[in-house]
Amino acid sequence: MSAQPVLVLVPGVTGASADGAPFARADEAAAQLTVIDLGVTRGDGIFETVGVFDGAPQNLGPHLRRLARSAEMLELPAPDLGILEEAFALAVAEHEDVPELSVRVVMTRGDEGTGVPTAWIHARESADWSRERAGIRVSALSRGLPSTVVADSPWLLAGAKTLSYAGNMSAVREAKRRGDDDVLFVSTDGYALEGPTSTLLVRLGETFVTTPLSAGVLQGTCVASVFEMLAAAGRTTGEKLLTPAEVLASDGAWLLSSTRLVAPITHLDGQELPVDAELTARLLAHLRGA
Ligand code: PLP
Repeated sequence: MSAQPVLVLVPGVTGASADGAPFARADEAAAQLTVIDLGVTRGDGIFETVGVFDGAPQNLGPHLRRLARSAEMLELPAPDLGILEEAFALAVAEHEDVPELSVRVVMTRGDEGTGVPTAWIHARESADWSRERAGIRVSALSRGLPSTVVADSPWLLAGAKTLSYAGNMSAVREAKRRGDDDVLFVSTDGYALEGPTSTLLVRLGETFVTTPLSAGVLQGTCVASVFEMLAAAGRTTGEKLLTPAEVLASDGAWLLSSTRLVAPITHLDGQELPVDAELTARLLAHLRGA
């Protein structure tokens, strides 16, 4: 049986004087949200998923700063990152020691009409990602939006990590119907974007590229960390818009994310890509903080 998840509620998430402590452990098995919480009724809120490996959170600072940016984009009250950091540490400390934890930090717009956000942190043992870390088959699926969405339609919140992931999860189900494991979203003007929960990394010779943020993808914490490692090893890194055909013709491609970490793409729409198992292992060790 897997370890018991840990829930920490954060009523003091905006730093405003909440009644009592700004955060406290709560009963994970008990009901905690009301039926009028806008996170539930509208998916109106933001979140982060942070990986904790052998007790050490990876990229917590970048995750919390991205949460603050998402809050700004949604015009939510600014979260107090110091309070969240302390609440996060409590959730990790209270959890049984396991090699890999997946910790969600969630903030919703709160109960309708109150303007008071609801926030919590939930730590649970990660899924076993060993199969995906060896390789995944990916379907290229349209996101139905152009690569100019950020400039054209900022109200669509492309690049914010909102709770409205039903479409992303539906795309993964479509990929599974097609016999694949995951998705590479493609813009209506024909560019590879990101996965439903991951960032695209592509190798072009000794250069490694990811999708430009201007195309409406989430600013990934893993790709930033991988770019630091690659730059230190003398490789060139940068942003470049690529078509799925260019990804297929590349020297390797991966989907990066904070708990699965690194998944090399073995096939895109059934066509094979080169896989460098040794480099993948190095990326995994780096992202795990080893
Ligand atoms: N893109 C999307 C849409 C995501 O949901 C995620 C992860 O949650 C990522 C990219 C990868 O981000 P990170 O590397 O910070 O986990």
